[in-house]
Amino acid sequence: MKQIVLASGNKGKLREFNELLGGLDFEVVPQSAFSVPDADETGLSFVENAILKARHAARLTGLPSLSDDSGLEVDALKGAPGIYSARFAGQGATDDDNCDLLLEKLRHIPESERTARFQCVLVFMRHETDPTPLICQGTWEGRILFEPRGEGGFGYDPLFWLPEQGLSSAELAPEEKNRQSHRGRALAQLMQRFNP
Ligand code: IMP
Repeated sequence: MKQIVLASGNKGKLREFNELLGGLDFEVVPQSAFSVPDADETGLSFVENAILKARHAARLTGLPSLSDDSGLEVDALKGAPGIYSARFAGQGATDDDNCDLLLEKLRHIPESERTARFQCVLVFMRHETDPTPLICQGTWEGRILFEPRGEGGFGYDPLFWLPEQGLSSAELAPEEKNRQSHRGRALAQLMQRFNP
């Protein structure tokens, strides 16, 4: 079976990608299986960082690669935390640290101005110097709550309110979140356009 290296160590992402691409006779193997260290994420946008990560993994393994860069954009914070979502409260910050900082920064922002969205960029590169990487982007619109709700998901999910459903993204069943989310949408696009 052909292998694709996943430029991430995230087990949840690995499972999701294997479920989808397994049907196409590809095995998605995490870069850690090849002792590939994390790439330096020096880009200033999701797409730049996703390309840097995919190229790094392809270069060090000689395999086609897949990467994912995602985060939360809050309008009242001019798009922050954006590409810094995982380390909003500093290097090594936990999800709770990041959520607490977000709530603090939005303390005086009224409900109507708490619009936000999750972004996910997926990049597939056939080889290290692929001049036309496949780039897919998914967006998920919502609002930032005043306090956490729900136990599921990860990251900012307990603060991400879906007004039409009257639920936070941490209150959605995992399959339902995958169906609606930024990552689910980007993956659906990738499946349509996948051309190794
Ligand atoms: P990464 O792409 O795995 O590095 O994710 C970046 C960060 O964005 C995560 O650490 C989370 O803080 C946030 N994030 C990305 N996707 C989600 C999501 O689906 N729910 C909640 N937070 C997310």
